[in-house]
Parts: sequence; C-alpha cells; structure tokens
Amino acid sequence: MELVTGGAGFIGSHLVDVLVAQGKSVRVFDNLSSGREEFLAHHGDSVEIIQADLLNYDDVKAAMAGIETVHHLAANPDIRLGTEVTDTDLRQGTIATYNVLEAMRVSGVKRISFASSSAIYGEADVMPTPETYGPVKPISLYGASKLSSEALISAWCGTFGAKSWLHRFANIVGSRGTHGVIFDFIHKLKADPTRLEVLGDGRQEKSYMSAEDCVRAMVHLVDGVDEDVNLYNLGTGDTCSVRRIAEIVVEESGFENVSIEYTGGKRGWAGDVPKTSLDVEYLFSTGFVPSMQSEAAIRYTARALIDEIGL
Ligand code: NAD
Repeated sequence: MELVTGGAGFIGSHLVDVLVAQGKSVRVFDNLSSGREEFLAHHGDSVEIIQADLLNYDDVKAAMAGIETVHHLAANPDIRLGTEVTDTDLRQGTIATYNVLEAMRVSGVKRISFASSSAIYGEADVMPTPETYGPVKPISLYGASKLSSEALISAWCGTFGAKSWLHRFANIVGSRGTHGVIFDFIHKLKADPTRLEVLGDGRQEKSYMSAEDCVRAMVHLVDGVDEDVNLYNLGTGDTCSVRRIAEIVVEESGFENVSIEYTGGKRGWAGDVPKTSLDVEYLFSTGFVPSMQSEAAIRYTARALIDEIGL
C-alpha cells in the first residue's frame, strides 16, 4: 500500500489518480487545511482517507501500517506566508517531515518520495540550474524548510538504510489548483474584469509544468531509478514570464480591454525569486518526456481553472 501525505491537495490528488491507475492501494493522510475531499471523490471508497495532522506524531505512526512507499507532499504551499508567520514552514515543512521519517523508521517503512522545490536554489547564478549547483542559498523560509527536509531525508537514508526520491519541482500548474499566480489572476479578474493587478514588474520568469506531467515524472522516477538518494529537478526545460501569464489569462477569460497594471519592483513579494530556470537534462536522461511546455501548461490551466472557478 502507498501512503500519500497531502493526498487531498492539488498535486497530491493528481498523484493519487496515477497510483490508483497503476493498480496500487492508496491511503491518503491529509488535514484538509488546503486539500479538499472532493478532489478524491471520484475514487469512492477505494482510497482510504485519514483526516489528521502530520504534527500529531501518533497519528502519523498509525498511518504507516502496511505501507511500502510514502509519497510526502503535505506542507504549507504558500511561500508568501513566511513573510508574516515565521514558524509555519518550520512546523509544516521541517518538523512534519521529521515526524514522517521517524514514523517510517519505527514502522520499518523504507521508501520515501518527497515534493521539494526549486525554491531551495534561491537566486542561483547558474541558469538553467542543475541538481549539482551549490552551495544553495534559499531566500524564503519555505525554501529553507524544503532544503532542511531534503537534508533530513538524506540523513535518514544514510543512517537507517532507507531509499528516497527528492523531486525539486518547478512551478506546478493545473486543474484543482487552489493557489498560485494563475489562480490569483482569475480571482482578481472575477472581482474586477476591467483591470488586472500584477505583483512586481511582470518580468519574473519561471519554469512551469502541468500537474499531470509532474506526478507522471514522480512515479516514473520512483519506479525507474534506484540509488539510495535520487535527486531530480522536475520541469519542462523552458520558462514563461508573469507578463505573458497575465496576457494568456486575460485572453482565456474572454474579457476585452483589460488594463494590466504592474505594482513594480523585480519581485512579487519578499522571498520571491525573480527568475528560475531548472536544468532538466538529468530527468530527460531517464526517458521522461513532458507532454506540455510552460506556455501550453499555463493556457491549459487557465482554461481548467476558469471552468472550475467560473467568471
Ligand atoms: P496543496 O496545498 O494543494 O497541498 C498540500 C496538502 O497538504 C493539502 O491537501 C493540505 O491540506 C495538506 N496539509 C498541509 N499541512 C498538513 C499537515 N500538517 N498535516 C496533514 N496534511 C497537511 O499544495 P500543492 O501545490 O499540491 O503542493 C504539494 C507539495 O508540492 C507541497 O509540499 C509543496 O510545497 C510542493 N510544491 C508545490 C509546488 C507548486 O507549484 N504547486 C512547487 C514546488 C513544490
């Protein structure tokens, strides 16, 4: 059986879909803070859902019974929140990961696949940034929590003989999104179809990957590569600017004469990395091919979220 922490969330629920399609039994562990049971409703009773918090160690330990692989995706997904509440990423990221690892250790579970992030690189001076880039210097508390979680997982593997897959995600977009730039733009347009405020100067440029491609890549790596610690960037190999995303969302909204207004400054908020570009040659060398590049993933997501949110 597979355990998916954060399995009721945006990416987690897509991962559950793929694992179920592979014929695996799946248990989801989620406190439903940003996840939604409706994202799993189509599985009926075939997916077991434990509504509990990773900060309650006894609940995490109980969830490990009969588990072969833990897919650890639960975390605070909001990078911006770290500018206001300074212990969120420490608790929901680092300590939650510690609880997962310790529960695995005492239960004899030996495999963990982890949702890390390109945020660990901070403002890298090598672009596209390969996995071998270092020293890495995150500039957000979220990035720090991902890097410390990676370190804890690697140490667990070295000390207790577990195997891990560390996936450094690009920006992931798609249906069931509950946050992120496309989601924000649609909500802003819904509130006021005449103008769209963009945080920063719109020149921020990042790699985007569809959630379907992301979870397909995760499973491809877990099934296909077998070092003790398998560390991969997950992305599409190209980038898209926030300016272009704003244009695409406006095009897909069907609203005319929308004034796109920029708040100015090179970053959207403190801790926002203005430009990220992930080197994904290592991922591609395993035979993985994404089905969509960044712009196509953004357009497809804009359509899906406009459909879900309604304008
Ligand atoms: P999400 O908020 O939809 O998913 C997180 C899930 O974890 C939610 O279902 C939430 O209810 C659950 N959760 C949070 N704290 C919990 C806790 N203490 N105990 C139990 N459940 C808890 O966000 P997402 O975008 O699907 O992100 C999934 C993972 O991927 C996260 O670890 C995130 O940091 C990582 N990630 C996401 C992106 C992206 O672009 N979306 C990029 C890089 C990394």
